[in-house]
Amino acid sequence: MSEHEDQSDRLKQHFAQRVINQARQVLEVWQRLQRNAWSKQEMDELQEGNQRLLRYAERFEQPEHCQIAEGIEQCLQGVAANRNRLSSELICELNQLMQRLSRTGLRHGDQFEQTSLPPLRKPVYLALQDNERRLRLEQQLSSYGLIAQGCPDSQAFRQAMAARHPLAILMEVDFAGEKQGLLLAEEAQQGLEQRIPVLFFSEQDSDTATRLQAVRAGGLDFYCNSLDASTILERVEQFSHTAHYEPFKVLIIDDSRAQVTHTEMVLNSAGIVTRTLTEPLEALDVLADFNPELIILDMYMPGCVGTELAKVIRQHERYVSIPIIYLSAEDDLEKQLDAMSEGGDDFLTKPIKPRHLIATVRTRATRARSLQARMVRDSLTGLYNHTHTLQLLEDARLRATRDGQPLCFAMLDIDHFKKVNDSYGHPMGDRVIKSLALFLKQRLRKTDHIGRYGGEEFAVVLPDTELEAAQRVLDEIRRRFAEIHYPAQPEDLSCTFSGGIALLRPGEDAQSLSKRADEALYQAKHGGRNQIACAE
Ligand code: GH3
Ligand code: MG
Ligand code: MG
Repeated sequence: MSEHEDQSDRLKQHFAQRVINQARQVLEVWQRLQRNAWSKQEMDELQEGNQRLLRYAERFEQPEHCQIAEGIEQCLQGVAANRNRLSSELICELNQLMQRLSRTGLRHGDQFEQTSLPPLRKPVYLALQDNERRLRLEQQLSSYGLIAQGCPDSQAFRQAMAARHPLAILMEVDFAGEKQGLLLAEEAQQGLEQRIPVLFFSEQDSDTATRLQAVRAGGLDFYCNSLDASTILERVEQFSHTAHYEPFKVLIIDDSRAQVTHTEMVLNSAGIVTRTLTEPLEALDVLADFNPELIILDMYMPGCVGTELAKVIRQHERYVSIPIIYLSAEDDLEKQLDAMSEGGDDFLTKPIKPRHLIATVRTRATRARSLQARMVRDSLTGLYNHTHTLQLLEDARLRATRDGQPLCFAMLDIDHFKKVNDSYGHPMGDRVIKSLALFLKQRLRKTDHIGRYGGEEFAVVLPDTELEAAQRVLDEIRRRFAEIHYPAQPEDLSCTFSGGIALLRPGEDAQSLSKRADEALYQAKHGGRNQIACAE
C-alpha cells in the first residue's frame, strides 16, 4: 500500500469513528429513556443528538448511519405532528431503528476487534490501589471483551468520570487514602439523575459502619480480601442488560373509550406499546393476536365483571402467569382484596397518577419477563437450556433453508473437567463453567444462540455463517479462553475446551446436523483436545 493510500485510509477510519461515537451518544439517551417517562427534555436531547449524527454521517459518507438517522428524525417529527404524543407504531419503529443503530458497530466476521464492539458497551472503571492487581484485572476483563479502564489515582479517576460515565465502578475502600474511596464514589454520584453502580473492594474485613457508608455511596456489592474477574463480570453483565431492549406490550380492556384513551396515552408516553379493547368478549382473540406481557383490566364493564374475565383468561395454560392489573374507581378495600384473590396481581384506583401507573406496569412486566426467561434458561449460566437450544436450532434451520443462508452448529466440551472437580472442588468447577458461558456471551454475536447442552458441554447456533468463519471465531475463543488463569491453591488453574462444528447440508434435519457436530467434537478430543474440528 502506498503511503498516500495508507494515510487516506487512516483518515477515513478516523472519521468513521466520529460517526460511531455520535451514534453511541444517541443510544445512551435512548437507553436512559427506558427507565423514565419520556420527558420533552429528553426527547429534545434525542432529536438534537440524532440530527448531529445525521450531519456527521452525511459529511463522512456513512450511508447506513444516514439512513437510520433519517428514519429516526422522521419518527421524531411524527411525534411532534401528533401533538407530542407517542403512538405504539412510532415506539416500535423507533425501537427497530435504535436496534439497527446499535448493530452498526458490529461488522460481520470482525466482531472481535475493539472498534466493532456494540456501541452501547460502556467502560468499567477500576479504582484499585495495588498496581499489579489493577493491571491484572484490567487484562482479565479485557480478555472477556469488556472495556476495563484502570485508574491509578484519584486524579485519573476524576478525569475518567469527567470524560465519560462508566457502566460501573469498581472502587477500593481505601483508594487514595483510608476510606477515601467511599468519599470519591459519593462525589462521583453527585448530581447524577441515574446512579452508577459501584462495587466496593476492601483488603480487610470491614465493619458495618463502613459497609453502610458504601451502600449510601451507591455500593451494590462489597468484596473482601480477594477479587475475582468472573464474579465482577457476572455483575457487570447484569447492568448492561437493558441494552437489548424491547418495549413492553400491554393490553388495556375497559368499556369506557375515554378511560382507555387516557391509559393508552400515559403508557405510550413512557415508551410502552399498547393495544386497546372496549369489548371484553373479544379478549381472547386479541390476546392470541397481540401476545401482550401484561393486561390492564377495568373492574366493572357491562355484560362482564373484570374478575370473571380474569378467571376465563387464566383458564388458558398460555396465560396462567400473565400479570393482570385491575383499574377501577372502586375504593372499597374488601372488594379490592376479593379481586386480588381471583387472579389479579394488583389493584389501582382511579384516578391514578401517571407516574404510579407507569412504575407499576414496568415493575410487573419486568418480573414477568424474567420469569419467562428463567423457564428457557439454565440457572447456573443463564444460557439457554438443552430443550430450548434445540428449539432455536430448529428455528434457525428453517430460516436458513428458506433464505438460502449458511448455518453452523457447534458443540463444545471442556477438557479433562473431571480433574478440575477432583483437584479443586466442585464449586471451582462451577466457576469455570460460568466463566466459559460468560466468555462465549461476550465474544459471540448477539444473533448467535448459546446453550448449555449438558454439564460441561455447550452448543452454539451460528446463523448466516460459513464453516470457515465459524471455525475462525471459535478457534479464537478457544485460544483466548486457554489464557485465562483462575486464582487457586496450590497453583492457579487454567482450562481448555475442544469443539466440533458442522455446516447445515441442503435438506438436512437438525438431528443429523447436531450428530455431525458431535462427531467432529469426538475427533477434536481424539486429536489431542484443545482444538476445533470441522465435520466433512
Ligand atoms: P474430556 O476431556 O474427555 O471431556 O474429559 P472430562 O473429564 O471433561 O469428561 P467427562 O465427561 O468424563 O467428565 C465431565 C465431568 O463434569 C463429570 C462431572 O462430574 C462434571 N460435571 C458435570 N456437570 C457439572 C457441573 O454442573 N458442575 C461441576 N462442577 N461439574 C460438573
Ligand atoms: Mg469434558
Ligand atoms: Mg463431557
